[in-house]
Amino acid sequence: MRFFPETIYWRLVSPILVVGLLLVALISLIVPTMTEQTATRAALLHGTELLLHTRDRLENSIQSGTTKSASEILAELPEYSVSKADFLTIQAKDFNSGTNIVPDSFQREAWSTLTGNSNDVHSELNVIGSRYIYRIATKDRVLGSLLEIRLDVTRNFQGNSFPTWALIAGVLAGILMLLLCAHLGARALADPLQTLALAFRSLSEKGDLSAGSHVSPTSAQEIRRLTKAFQLFREREKDRHDLTDEIKRLAFFDPLTGLANRTRFLHHLKHHLDETREMTISPMVVLFDIDRYRDINDTFGHEAGDAVLRVLADRLRTLDAAHVRAARYGEDTFALLCLIEWGQSEDERMKLVERVRSLLSHRIHYDHQSIQLTACFGLSWAPDHGSHADALITAAHIALDKAKCQGRDSAMSYSRELANEAQNRITIVQDLKSALNQRRLQPFFQPQFDIASGRLIGAEALIRWPRFDGTFVPPGVFIPVAEQAQLITPIGQFMIDQVCASAAQWQAQGVKVPRLAINISALHFAEENVADAVKQAIARHEIPAELLEIEITESAMSQRIETVMDSLSELQKLGVEIALDDFGTGYSSLSYLQQLPLNRLKIDQSFIKEMSSSRSAQIVKTIIGLGRSMNLSVLAEGIENEAQADHLLELGCREGQGYHFAKPMPPDEFLAFIQDEQMRDADSQADLVRQIKSVSPHMSAVNGR
Ligand code: C2E
Ligand code: MG
Ligand code: MG
Repeated sequence: MRFFPETIYWRLVSPILVVGLLLVALISLIVPTMTEQTATRAALLHGTELLLHTRDRLENSIQSGTTKSASEILAELPEYSVSKADFLTIQAKDFNSGTNIVPDSFQREAWSTLTGNSNDVHSELNVIGSRYIYRIATKDRVLGSLLEIRLDVTRNFQGNSFPTWALIAGVLAGILMLLLCAHLGARALADPLQTLALAFRSLSEKGDLSAGSHVSPTSAQEIRRLTKAFQLFREREKDRHDLTDEIKRLAFFDPLTGLANRTRFLHHLKHHLDETREMTISPMVVLFDIDRYRDINDTFGHEAGDAVLRVLADRLRTLDAAHVRAARYGEDTFALLCLIEWGQSEDERMKLVERVRSLLSHRIHYDHQSIQLTACFGLSWAPDHGSHADALITAAHIALDKAKCQGRDSAMSYSRELANEAQNRITIVQDLKSALNQRRLQPFFQPQFDIASGRLIGAEALIRWPRFDGTFVPPGVFIPVAEQAQLITPIGQFMIDQVCASAAQWQAQGVKVPRLAINISALHFAEENVADAVKQAIARHEIPAELLEIEITESAMSQRIETVMDSLSELQKLGVEIALDDFGTGYSSLSYLQQLPLNRLKIDQSFIKEMSSSRSAQIVKTIIGLGRSMNLSVLAEGIENEAQADHLLELGCREGQGYHFAKPMPPDEFLAFIQDEQMRDADSQADLVRQIKSVSPHMSAVNGR
């Protein structure tokens, strides 16, 4: 068991305290006994001397005849008067007869002890009440009587306590002095050490860098060194702290916008999901993606792109901070975490989207440019769409993907159907990859005709993905998925190669191959140089560029217009024709149309289908007029009956494609189709020659010559 704390202070002070206390106890026990013995011895010596001196004088007075009593002799001794003493003489006869004096036990004992040894003394200390009386006896050598002296030595004994207390006081004072020195020494040592220890602790536990700043080095060299070492450590620790703060900032915040990053957002989401599990709060995740952010970067430069993100982040900060937390989730993707009451309707939840839309609606001005933003939104909320952060994020992503498919400025909430769609998309992507690798995809060809003459003028190559049961996965299903999954470029490359290979093969068989149109997705232009890819394929298969046509959709025009335009111009220079597919369904502005290197406009089949309505007919008429005014060929897609063909002819459309003429067909069938067409052409030409001959027989004679 420890009585004192295990500190340097008590280590230094406690031994002095313990030793001091022991010393005092020892002194108070031993010193009184020792002084008592000394006093007794001194009294005995003094009394014996007094007694023997008196005896000598008494003996002399007896021998000289001037008999004096012992008391008288004693009184004559001025040097002994300091001791208060009674003298008593008892004759031998008194002992024997017992007439005058009755001897007490001391006297009797002295009488018997001194008989025969009259030079000796007999003594005894008596305590009577509070008094100390020393009794010493001897025998005189003349009369043989007992001489007794009684000395009152009380004063000696009372005086004895004084040295004891003086000693104790001295020792105590010494100890106190020692204690004071030890205390001061220990404080000088322990205080800085303690401050250092506390500073170290608060530095390591709380990271409090201000702790220990007041540690003053004492005169002790070791402590001075320790303090200096600590100050150095504190400075290093401060640097480390600053670095850690910076690392934390980079780890949890987006350096460009200062918003929380994805890690911090997920952390918050998990935290709120845990916290609100028992409450009536339903955390909602909104992911939104700026529409065509790449175009902003490409058109205005990356600095403008960064500025746009910063302005948007500032605007998002104005959202109600108590209920909405904003984060930058990806390049141009932002995430909002919103705490909403349970059971709120979807419309109620969409109000947040409306608020963000209103923030986006103000144009952003950068370097004399004015940029208008829109975004697509995906929403998910707990517990309906998941009770874990990962599930909610995945759900919001699925909703966002769907919203993006619907076009700019769309918003979607997660639903089971969306999840199924997403799952289907994943399956399609996997299957499509293996179909591509195993070259199970193939082009079908749909012939295109001059409507008036019915002459074959070309064909559109359309991709076909056969299932194992012989049916086909419709391109309308897998092409959008391929575009999302970055599979559209390999598909485009595959089609360019296959179409060129077929053309080369047919040419080698001596067939006059018509123009073959290949559909190229807008994203393909963004991912690789399409002109180079076509050039290489043409060179590889040794076919004339004039045999090819590239079909692009209007949506290609809205994305990366410069890249697309450069690529198309290059192709056109080679002799490849360019057709604008599905014309009328997109948003291409007339100014773009004017700049584009085009050869043909393809009227979208939806207008042909609806041509019985005057509105669609009017649109078709307008497109035909536009094509004519721009010196472009106009081809109508999806002609399914003769009435449509006639109507188109009436409106001035000369080229057509559709089930009315021919459906898309596999390459070998198409080869047979071309051969038939060519034979028909040859036959009709022969017929024509025959007719001409029959009408003017002399002509043949002229020709035959
Ligand atoms: P598109 O380029 O407009 O192709 C015309 C679509 O209309 C084809 O559908 C064709 O089969 C269909 N069609 C032709 N005539 C008629 C008709 O009289 N009635 C009806 N109802 N439909 C007709 P398909 O083959 O299903 O292709 C759909 C879309 O998929 C194409 O539209 C094109 O945008 C895309 N696509 C097809 N093949 C490729 C390809 O190799 N690459 C790319 N990037 N897209 C392709
Ligand atoms: Mg097409
Ligand atoms: Mg089309």
